[in-house]
Amino acid sequence: MNIDLLKRLCETPGVPGHEDRVRDLITAEIEGMFTEVKTDAMGSLLCRREATSADAPRIMLLCHMDEIGFLVSHISKEGFLYLQPVGGFDPRNLFSRRVRVCTDEGDHIGVMNPGGKPVHISSPEERKKVPELGEFFVDLGLGEKARDLVKVGDFVVMEEPFLEMGDKVVSKALDNRIACWLGIEAIRALGDKGRGAEIHVAFTCQEEVGLRGARTAAYAIKPDIGLGIDVTLSCDTPGVPEKDRTTKQGDGFGLHVRDSSFIADKKLVSEIEQLAIAKDIPYQRTMLGAGGQDGAAAQQAAAGARAVGIVVGTRYIHTVTEMADKRDLEAARQMLTEYLASFTG
Ligand SMILES: [Zn+2]
Repeated sequence: MNIDLLKRLCETPGVPGHEDRVRDLITAEIEGMFTEVKTDAMGSLLCRREATSADAPRIMLLCHMDEIGFLVSHISKEGFLYLQPVGGFDPRNLFSRRVRVCTDEGDHIGVMNPGGKPVHISSPEERKKVPELGEFFVDLGLGEKARDLVKVGDFVVMEEPFLEMGDKVVSKALDNRIACWLGIEAIRALGDKGRGAEIHVAFTCQEEVGLRGARTAAYAIKPDIGLGIDVTLSCDTPGVPEKDRTTKQGDGFGLHVRDSSFIADKKLVSEIEQLAIAKDIPYQRTMLGAGGQDGAAAQQAAAGARAVGIVVGTRYIHTVTEMADKRDLEAARQMLTEYLASFTG
């Protein structure tokens, strides 16, 4: 497994609307793998691989490049940075974080905390309160000088290294650099197979703020079949009843049947399931009660497409300790390659 690529993808900062560094990394990595590669007006990277015949079905893989993060919304006189979130953060996970403030001129490491008093001088009541997102600020340790280095609109990500632990990988950005990795590695493993379909891999932007890049990309491509590639929940951990765990790590990739943004195409679900069984690829059917993913944008593009989600169960999602299982990731990679290869030229 090309874990080095996953590590580089995860450690490259890119929040909604600021995906350019991730896009540059992918562009360099996919050199020679596609017939045509272009960046659309919103910033999604659209990659097309030719089929042998002109009327071949168009299959689109959607892999969002953005991670959740913040934009700097205000810089105080003293040089403290205030933030607006881009993507769904839980404030309970934001205390005492190291962050990276990314500007066009370079990055600065800072620390993020909520306003208020430390434990030594706070009352029992004050200690119980969870601060609102708007109460957090970043201290670069530079005082007023920060005002010369950072602008409103610059972006902020968590500063955490990628880790490998046994069968697991841990990062702040497995959502959704896992999909970027899959979009690259599935095509690499395909070699010259799968020429019976025109394959499009769209590395989309701004998913975390509402599938925005996927909508325009899918409108441009007008796929016949859309595969939304993403993480899903894996609550196979203490404190969650078994019926709510969504996926169990180590049991294979997730065949995503529904969430609040779309219901997968029934026939496509069963085609992929049959292929997984035939090729002995571990999988689990999975559903989410809330939350959406890029597959929905493909399904509803132009006059509509058949769509399904191929997902990887991830623990502690939208925290700096997102954890996935390498065996599930490899199963998703294998499934995508086998599915695309089934379109013989
Ligand atoms: Zn995602």
